Amino acid sequence: LGSIRRRSFATRVAHSSRFLSTLVLGEHKGGSIEASSLCVVEAAKRLGGDNSVSLLLAGSGPSLQEAAAHAACFHPSISKVLLADSESFTYALAEPWAKLVYLVQQKGSYSHIITGSGSFGKNVLPRAAALLDVSPITDVTEISGSNLFVRPIYAGNALSTVRYTGSNPCMLTIRATSFPTGMSPASVSNDKCIEKIDLSAFSEDDAGGKSRYVSISSQDTERPDLANASIVVTGGRGLKSAENFKMIEKLAEKLGAAVGATRAAVDAGFVPNELQVGQTGKIVAPELYMAFGVSGAIQHLAGIRDSKVIVAVNKDADAPIFQVADYGLVGDLFEIIPELLEKLPEK
Ligand code: FAD
Repeated sequence: LGSIRRRSFATRVAHSSRFLSTLVLGEHKGGSIEASSLCVVEAAKRLGGDNSVSLLLAGSGPSLQEAAAHAACFHPSISKVLLADSESFTYALAEPWAKLVYLVQQKGSYSHIITGSGSFGKNVLPRAAALLDVSPITDVTEISGSNLFVRPIYAGNALSTVRYTGSNPCMLTIRATSFPTGMSPASVSNDKCIEKIDLSAFSEDDAGGKSRYVSISSQDTERPDLANASIVVTGGRGLKSAENFKMIEKLAEKLGAAVGATRAAVDAGFVPNELQVGQTGKIVAPELYMAFGVSGAIQHLAGIRDSKVIVAVNKDADAPIFQVADYGLVGDLFEIIPELLEKLPEK
């Protein structure tokens, strides 16, 4: 009981303060901050009080510097950009990143550490939380105060409100699609807010770990990013083959849309894993979501619930996807997609 009392006192001290300080673990690509990280910064502002938001970026070489300058443009939303410039961070491996977060927290004593709930966040944050001995809260979709959060449970069928009662830091992964990017760049970049982290305490052992970078394969495409696209065209097992799946890609091209897939389509080898939408794939929230040959399994629906308009094409009138679709078409996709391709104007 004594230890419980001590802990709740510490908790009160930790969260009654109006002065919060949040460390956002940022992702960057090609010299720019990822849109999902900007959504996380927006979420950080909602923690309340006088929240000073620091953005931690790690990587190596000129693209890291460019990303930092890009982030600095968003001053004063971001009060500081912390840079970890080392070969150890060239590829975002979880072990060195987790150790980095641990070291930065030792120095900065942040009240909150937050990041997106994509594969980067899912990989890094729990490891960092274990090193800091706190329980993270994942997949936050709403922030009602510095320690009160809403997150989906049962594959998105219920929302649970959770109060964080642990000690600092409170660590969260944020569902980026639930928060706007919210910021427009300031006219003048504030380079003064960029601070290089002293990595002398970072040893060779920290850089290694149990995983090592082997290679990366990614679809080289001009299409919009699946997680942020305003139109998503998804294909399921009903497409039957990788060859047939090209129809989905053509349709997406005509509509300026991103391509998505169900897990069954990914497992069947039609498309790579990075296109999977759903509970164990990407969460999307486009203006228009089009699903072809998708049954509407609960795990798939978990990833598309926030879409504004859902259109489904399925030859089975009883397919569960029709229960969530705003517009449903019972028919053969092998007739409907070619007709759509023919009738849609060239971009
Ligand atoms: P099916 O369920 O086989 O449906 C194919 C549909 O195509 C059918 O409804 C059929 O009527 C229709 N069809 C067939 N031919 C045609 C035609 N010619 N014209 C029109 N319609 C046609 N799934 C995900 O998608 N994302 C996830 O993140 C995910 N995570 C999971 C996590 C766990 C722990 C588990 C257990 C499962 C997960 N799944 C996930 C899998 C999920 O349960 C389903 O198996 C999967 O979503 C089914 O994909 P599908 O709709 O493409 O295939």
